Amino acid sequence: MRSHLTLGRMFGVPIGVNLWVGLVVIVLAVSLAELSLPAIAPGHPTSAYWFAGVVGVVAFLASLVAHELGHSWVAQRNEVRVLGITLWLFGGVAKLDGEATDPGSEFRIALAGPAMSALTALLCAAGAWGTWRVGGSEVLFGLFVWLAGINTILAVTNLIPAFPLDGGRILRAVLWRHTGRRIRATHLAALWGQILAVVIALVSVWLIFSVAVWSGMWILALSLFLFAAARAEWSASRPAPELLEMPVGEMRRHLPTALGPTATVADVQAAFDNHPTAPFVPLTGVRSTTDSMVTRDGVARIPPAQHPVVPATSVAEPLLALPRVDPTESVGSVVARLGQGRNWWALMADRDGRLGALMSSDVAGVLEMAAGD
Ligand SMILES: [Zn+2]
Repeated sequence: MRSHLTLGRMFGVPIGVNLWVGLVVIVLAVSLAELSLPAIAPGHPTSAYWFAGVVGVVAFLASLVAHELGHSWVAQRNEVRVLGITLWLFGGVAKLDGEATDPGSEFRIALAGPAMSALTALLCAAGAWGTWRVGGSEVLFGLFVWLAGINTILAVTNLIPAFPLDGGRILRAVLWRHTGRRIRATHLAALWGQILAVVIALVSVWLIFSVAVWSGMWILALSLFLFAAARAEWSASRPAPELLEMPVGEMRRHLPTALGPTATVADVQAAFDNHPTAPFVPLTGVRSTTDSMVTRDGVARIPPAQHPVVPATSVAEPLLALPRVDPTESVGSVVARLGQGRNWWALMADRDGRLGALMSSDVAGVLEMAAGD
């Protein structure tokens, strides 16, 4: 969801709003000032309801931010970076940089939002109780009751196990832990998400024609959005065996230019610094052919203070030991040859003779997507 306007940062996370929030703000302010508050605390001037209505809408937006900050805080604690929080038509979205790496983190990140909303609901209920105890304003009491209610709704509806709602993510985490297969778990959770979205749509149609037209329409819109989102995730997590036909050249890691026979370990370290994804640095020997390599482990064996004086050749290993792959060879063929589930490195030479590398971890993601695991 795109942010049209950035409001600021909280805990280092940028918070923005999508223009759709304007619609939510207007509808909520009108319904609070004209319907909800007069019903909870009757007999006050219209200006009091409208003042409380505007305060209520701001507090509601703050509740949405609190929910997303709950997700963000736990995500950051589980080493998933948060790019930002956006408020839009159907609440808030915390945009994460990548996904949780294990089902436990996924579970905790998903649960943190509803937990935060439940906590906010409790605080608002305490506020209502306190206002009532000291005989404070009835309108303020009404506002606290409404906020407690809406945060309870936020906590409960987000726990519906319809992916991509939080409840659906929790379901995916449980399936992931149970099967050990992340993509397969996503596929199942997204399938179930589509089914639930259809059920919610049917309920909303019933609402439209029986008790609450506007709430029904809003829920119908939400269910259509949920269905589309679940469907997109479902088809993205489908097994894609055609990926095995992909040439491995696309996954090639660039290697630093080969260092000469007089290079030191410090030179190797500098080459690694310039090529952060390179698994090793090639060395040319006396015959000026590329015949050995220094790995990161090799560099680590030498104490840093000695890097400038220790020759790189003293920690070099033969390059001939590595299997070779052609950039045009398919992922399927390479894996059949070098083994799946094993750790391997391979050398990849271009047509112009430039060296590259391929690691088993580079093709692991493609294998996962191909099998739908
Ligand atoms: Zn959430």
